[in-house]
Amino acid sequence: MMMQSYEDSLAVAGAGISLVDFMVAASKIDEKSPVGFALMPPARHHALLDESKGWCYFENAGIAARYAQRVHGLKRVLIIDFDAHFMSYTNHAFYDDPDIFVLSTHKSVGYHGKFNETGSGLGEGATLNLPLPDGTGDIAMRNVFDEIIVPCVQRFKPDMIIVSAGYDGHATDPTGGFQLTTGTYFTLALGIKQLAKDLCGGRCVFFLEGGPSKGIVSFSVAESFRAFLGEPSMADEFEKKYAVFLHDEPINKIKEAIQRTKSVHSI
Ligand SMILES: [Zn+2]
Repeated sequence: MMMQSYEDSLAVAGAGISLVDFMVAASKIDEKSPVGFALMPPARHHALLDESKGWCYFENAGIAARYAQRVHGLKRVLIIDFDAHFMSYTNHAFYDDPDIFVLSTHKSVGYHGKFNETGSGLGEGATLNLPLPDGTGDIAMRNVFDEIIVPCVQRFKPDMIIVSAGYDGHATDPTGGFQLTTGTYFTLALGIKQLAKDLCGGRCVFFLEGGPSKGIVSFSVAESFRAFLGEPSMADEFEKKYAVFLHDEPINKIKEAIQRTKSVHSI
């Protein structure tokens, strides 16, 4: 992963808010407007308010969320981060904000992004951290989507959904510890698109976060695009081509994590 310059990071943040402008304008014309996807240099969701961190200067999803509120008058924004790493900035910046719901699934590392970090003050309950065990894969994420993401979005009723789309949970990424597949990313994109269509006039933008090799990120992003465009998934072909080997998922630990999240958030 390469550190961007400050100037590059400014341009990337600007591209993110331009995408929000475009999506808001498009949704006024047609509620079936396509999902926006910012194909920008990745690695942003670790930056802090006053400090660059983890190769990131600015946290674009957070900037775009605030921009959508202040410039376009959208009251409630929901941020979903399915990157395999915990997104420090997004989580902390809106920790006491009831109008920006931050939902993160990430690898369990024990010291941050924990179940009981649920927001504070007026924002209590508007932060959802779901740490998942090593080996989390397609079955787990499908369950997380149905049992956690869908009810949370339905309950929060956002005016816009912003997705920090990190693809480093793919089975071939040595840093993520997960074993998601390109098919998982198809399913997530399809489901999130439908939620946005049903609940917030189709206003939804994806920002590219981390990912493994360029080839796998390309296939995973392409799967997301196929879902947005209503085309069939080509994931099986890809997984065969790269001979992706998958272990059994730790189903009991995954169920436990989902159950704990449901109990903490009264879902
Ligand atoms: Zn990551």
